[in-house]
Amino acid sequence: MKKHNFNAGPSILPRIAIENTAKAVLELNNSGLSLIEISHRTKDFEAILDEAVALFKEQLNIPENYKVLFLGGGASMQFCMVPFNLLNKKAAYLETGVWAKKAIKEAKLFGEVEIIASSADKNFTYYPKGFNIPTDADYLHITTNNTIYGSEIHYDLDSPIPLVADMSSDILSRPVDVSKYAMIYGGAQKNLGPAGVTFVIIREDILGKVERAIPTMLDYRTHIKEGSMFNTPPCFAIFTVNETLKWIKSLGGVNKIFEMNKAKAELLYKAIDESPIFVGTVEKDSRSLMNICFVLKPGYEDKQEAFMEFLKQNGMVGLKGHRLVGGFRASTYNALPIESVQALVNCMKEFESKNA
Ligand SMILES: *Cc1c(COP(=O)(O)O)cnc(C)c1O
Repeated sequence: MKKHNFNAGPSILPRIAIENTAKAVLELNNSGLSLIEISHRTKDFEAILDEAVALFKEQLNIPENYKVLFLGGGASMQFCMVPFNLLNKKAAYLETGVWAKKAIKEAKLFGEVEIIASSADKNFTYYPKGFNIPTDADYLHITTNNTIYGSEIHYDLDSPIPLVADMSSDILSRPVDVSKYAMIYGGAQKNLGPAGVTFVIIREDILGKVERAIPTMLDYRTHIKEGSMFNTPPCFAIFTVNETLKWIKSLGGVNKIFEMNKAKAELLYKAIDESPIFVGTVEKDSRSLMNICFVLKPGYEDKQEAFMEFLKQNGMVGLKGHRLVGGFRASTYNALPIESVQALVNCMKEFESKNA
């Protein structure tokens, strides 16, 4: 049966990226060797890394004065690397979900943290607005898309202090004015590639301002100086990221992807809003284009298991909501075709006709 992959992460990738990765694992560029058994210092691999960096810059319109790094450790490692490298006295954070809270916890190890706005009061079902950004903080950290709760900020903030953004789950899903950020980072395993590689887009002038000693591997300057080759980079994962970037380019770039993502999200949110039995969990102006959360309306909660089973019978994968939200979560990342969203909507309608 055809599977419709709504996994939250690791998640669906473009078929062509998977096929080309599979080929390269068997043999890279007619070399007689596999992608995963060659030195990262070979011309073959260096060309892949260089292309991935160049395509990232091109597709996201990254200005000249930014570096693109591919590191290990996941987005979670950035939660400590950011304050290690940037926090002198005080940092400002937006508390918009579990990932933001984890980032805040690490930052507190390095200095004062001011939570300038939080949506914890309503279980993170909206994106805060109208907050003041303190000019005496070293940076402001935000999570642009809250993967678990399904809320997203739909514009680039104007910040008087360096803006650092975790874009793990919405990178390259929409155009971004990179010049408004001092740093953008994320794990690749939602929209870009397999687990194991973390992208970092960073403006070098924010570095070198803290007094503390920074371990070599945790110092961004090490990786900038060595072009992500200080130690062995995650070669396999970088290969797939490069293939995904080529796929984005071949479709017509991020603006085109954004149009496709909006169409998918509109289709599903419309079905939720019209449903007699389902209801969305997030305030409308904060709704994520990437992670669409919904639950059964009061009176229908006992249908949870039956609907999960119905989805399974129809090849729908990964739709169970995170345990902190319950209900259902459809992750509609870049590589998910609109046909899969339509198939989900059809399942919802059919289930409604039998159960409403
Ligand atoms: C998945 C996710 C993370 C964690 O990424 P890891 O690479 O597993 O450390 C962090 N932030 C956000 C927004 C995420 O969606």
